[in-house]
Amino acid sequence: MKINLGTYLLSCFLLMGFSCKNKMKVSNEILIEQKAATLLKQMTLEEKIGQMSQIRHFEENADAHVSEKFIGSIIHTQGPTPGKSAKEWQKRFIELQKKALSTRLGIPLLFGVDAVHGQNTFEGATIFPHNIGLGAANNEELVFEIAKITALESQATGFNWVFSPCVAIPYNEKWGRVYEAFSENTEITEKLTKASVKGHQGNLADATTVMATAKHFIGDGATDFGVEGGETSLSDSEIYTYLLPPYKAAVQEKVGAVMASFNSINGISMHNHKKLITDRLKIGMKFDGIVVSDWKAYSRFNGIEVINAGIDMVMAVDGDLEDFQEGLKKAVEDKKVSMERIDDAVRRILRQKFRLGLFENPFPDTTLVSKIGIKKHREIAKQAVRESLVLLKNENQVLPISKETKKILVVGEHANNAGLQSGGWSINWQGNLENYKGATTILDGIKKHSKGEVVYDKNATENHFDADMAIIVVGEIPYAEFFGDIGHESNQLKLTLTEEHQQYIKTYTEKGLKTLVVLISGRPLVVSEQINSSDAFVAAWLPGSEGDGIAEVLFGDFNFKGKLPHSWPKDVKDYEYKYGPNFWDKTLKPLYEFGFGMTYE
Ligand code: BGC
Repeated sequence: MKINLGTYLLSCFLLMGFSCKNKMKVSNEILIEQKAATLLKQMTLEEKIGQMSQIRHFEENADAHVSEKFIGSIIHTQGPTPGKSAKEWQKRFIELQKKALSTRLGIPLLFGVDAVHGQNTFEGATIFPHNIGLGAANNEELVFEIAKITALESQATGFNWVFSPCVAIPYNEKWGRVYEAFSENTEITEKLTKASVKGHQGNLADATTVMATAKHFIGDGATDFGVEGGETSLSDSEIYTYLLPPYKAAVQEKVGAVMASFNSINGISMHNHKKLITDRLKIGMKFDGIVVSDWKAYSRFNGIEVINAGIDMVMAVDGDLEDFQEGLKKAVEDKKVSMERIDDAVRRILRQKFRLGLFENPFPDTTLVSKIGIKKHREIAKQAVRESLVLLKNENQVLPISKETKKILVVGEHANNAGLQSGGWSINWQGNLENYKGATTILDGIKKHSKGEVVYDKNATENHFDADMAIIVVGEIPYAEFFGDIGHESNQLKLTLTEEHQQYIKTYTEKGLKTLVVLISGRPLVVSEQINSSDAFVAAWLPGSEGDGIAEVLFGDFNFKGKLPHSWPKDVKDYEYKYGPNFWDKTLKPLYEFGFGMTYE
């Protein structure tokens, strides 16, 4: 092949540029290792254990603990603390950071937040569809953009670390965290994990990026019967083949942290699983970031055994701090935990703090506050809502809805409630039952698009049988970990719709009204009867703050794009076994196969 001189010189130049950039990266990494080693040498055992501790910002004596117990990180899980405005949040975290910087060695704090679908702990932030919806959209550029915005809005509220993405592969829809994961499919999860880590972390030292966390390592979604923190009885080879690839992808993208899981694997608690945490993840996969424990791991999972298994930072919250710090100190003095193990943990924490540039820029950028929940961010969230919708049935020309339709009836409390449409981890840990700042509802969107009359019959009691069609919005109430498991003692959740919601649909289908059902749920539900009786059926998952985006597809401005990220069950009986109606049990045929989804053409 002939090549002209210009092209030749240009490619040499580009190549030099590339290798030059790479060299800079390498030398920067060497520098970081040197800095971390130098700092580590100066640290006392107390200071090292301090770095391994994570506490809440509103705990009693939090300030004193940062100053005197050399805390390494602050955790935030839900609103509305520490204040009404983002400025107040930043102020509080700056205050704590100053305390950390005034300690003997001045090591800055990491501020971590459960931003799992946008900075969902702050009212007014952009809240994206939960990951299950993004799995349906299966668009890696979109996941990248969403993660980038989440990072920026998290920084704007004072955080430099998010506990996201959840890269679980759920095998039983009874699990209350199905929606936190992208899909039951390993390849989709792997691909979207990569995009998510890239989007969050970008250039880690930038003021608009954050450290990401792949969680929960490993087997969280594959517990028998879908019990949160239960027993995962898969074989090693099943774990490596089906569950590990997303972690490999995250590590390749240099994810800063991995969170250990509450479940056990074949009888060994993951928090005590040295073989998987140290041998597989750290040594085998060369993960050089932080392994962070889950909530109160020290008191839950055999004390110092969590450290010996390879956990580097402990969520020592709600009264655990003293026991953890004293217990670990004594264990080191008694030689039950080696100094080498402590140094490995602290080196990893310091390395990430250097990578984040926290020693040079420890404070959040105050100018970012004005970017929270801006239109540009909400447009991306709306795109995600549109792309996440899965059309399961469309008969009798119900969809797309004509904008000229004379009278549209909208039914169901989920149609006009941003809290209900957002699911768990929205403002509050277990979710929120009301509208919240900045959000739009499904009804808002319908009203915006319709040129005719739109009537709203919240609980299907008003008998609007003269309407030209009914849009019935039904679904689950918000829930999060533990409380969302079907069969958990705290709830009445079922794999089917509630009696009331079944009745909403019956009331209007039995009168022969053209009916579209929109399902708001964190998992596929058993709705075979309702799919049968309605003319059209849409799985809308948990769309987040931009509920009005749904109407853009229903009225035909955009086509459907979403495909099922889970196979869809046909019968509650399909859940008698350990897993749901997916490929684990070949004798079960789902109602719709994984990947199903119709379009208008
Ligand atoms: C959850 C994690 C979460 C952590 C901090 C735990 O109970 O399992 O996903 O990041 O709490 O809120």
